[in-house]
Amino acid sequence: MGNTETQSILVVGGGISGMTAAIESAEAGYDVYLVEKNPYLGGRVAQLHNYFPKLCPPACGMEINFRRIKQNPRIRFFTMAEVESISGDEGNFDVKIRLNPRYVNENCTACGKCEEACSIEIENPFNYGMDKIKAIYLPHPMAFPMRYVMAPELKNSNEAQKVKEACPYNAIELDMEPKVVDLKVGSIVWATGWKPYDANRLDTYGFGKYPDVITNVMMERLASWTGPTKGKIVRPSDGKEPESIAFVQCAGSRDENHLPYCSGICCLASMKHANYVAEQYPDCKIYIFFIDIRATDRMEDFYTKTKELQNLQFFKGKVAQITRDDSSGKLVCKVEDTTSSSLEEVSVDMVVLATGMQPNTAEDSIPVDVTLDDYGFIGSQNPRPGFYAAGCIRTPTGVQESVQDGTAAALKAIQSIVRR
Ligand SMILES: Cc1cc2nc3c(=O)[nH]c(=O)nc-3n(C[C@H](O)[C@H](O)[C@H](O)COP(=O)(O)OP(=O)(O)OC[C@H]3O[C@@H](n4cnc5c(N)ncnc54)[C@H](O)[C@@H]3O)c2cc1C
Repeated sequence: MGNTETQSILVVGGGISGMTAAIESAEAGYDVYLVEKNPYLGGRVAQLHNYFPKLCPPACGMEINFRRIKQNPRIRFFTMAEVESISGDEGNFDVKIRLNPRYVNENCTACGKCEEACSIEIENPFNYGMDKIKAIYLPHPMAFPMRYVMAPELKNSNEAQKVKEACPYNAIELDMEPKVVDLKVGSIVWATGWKPYDANRLDTYGFGKYPDVITNVMMERLASWTGPTKGKIVRPSDGKEPESIAFVQCAGSRDENHLPYCSGICCLASMKHANYVAEQYPDCKIYIFFIDIRATDRMEDFYTKTKELQNLQFFKGKVAQITRDDSSGKLVCKVEDTTSSSLEEVSVDMVVLATGMQPNTAEDSIPVDVTLDDYGFIGSQNPRPGFYAAGCIRTPTGVQESVQDGTAAALKAIQSIVRR
């Protein structure tokens, strides 16, 4: 058996998969380091309004996980942190973690006095740039840790000193520098998750050109009480309540020029969004344009129930192009109805592109020799001895499966240590 240090487990990525792997390992009695690049834990799930199929908010499940982390002295977590290098082998890895400066220390009580003193604004990354926030901000109202972060735009301005002086708790440290922490661990769980496929690459859909063409992840923020409109679903261009809305399935997915695979959750996410819209606007006409609907096993019931929405039409056809009619301000979806082979034009107030999930490893390399599949996923759960992958970095999937995957990876990581 190795020494205490090398019996520790490193988990990279503090989304639902990584948090689960960390909590399960720690609750089984192992020391864990959890490394997260964002200023908060929770990953993309923290940005969802509700979960399918029950349509309940993720906040309660997240809170339980945060409490398990807070209460367990075996978990040490780092936010705004990334792995710089990994050397060594199973049972004896040397890891360098880079901690990026937050410019706000543990004294912060999230009182908001710094924010009041700040006049500089930046795009809000949590809301996918749909609104602005002050350049010193709480990442979101349920953030864990509940601590402000200062953006470089403020740090490098001559307002920084004034904002520092507004803090009653001496929590702002303008001279904070990046730090490197050396760790020794026995095994590693990689759970760095996914990002939405870049809708700017879908040049016939007008994303970025027409403000009322948004993506499915933006829809989650638009529907959320912590979002840019406090949960009211309105057209970004003019704040108008939509009378009609279209969901474009497989926007870039199952397409050799973009993501050749199916992300498996986009149909369910659009059905969830149709429920959000119908709840706010029972008279709004909703279209879901699809190739085929992927709602397997227990999700079939959710599909059946969603089909009962009075003003929802499932339209079998792939949208070829979206344009804007300048006289009416409507978006026009050109689509082939594959049941009748006729070409149709459907005008709506808003369009939501159901873009797929792309693994972060498709563009960000891992500092260790691991084989990725053709799409950038870590193809296997155990790509090399002592190294395990969990959640959407392994395959596009939902929350429940990510939790199961995180648990499985924790067990494998523990076995790897115990074997030695
Ligand atoms: C529109 C939409 C709606 C959805 N709705 C639902 C739903 O209702 N129900 C459901 O079950 N599923 C839903 N999903 C799927 C759900 O979001 C995923 O299952 C979940 O996010 C997977 O969690 P994860 O931890 O694997 O990845 P992520 O949530 O992506 O978390 C990964 C974490 O790793 C961090 N990270 C990335 N790179 C690094 C690095 N180099 N170093 C350190 N940290 C890093 C990230 O910042 C992030 O915190 C939806 C997906 C979409 C697209």
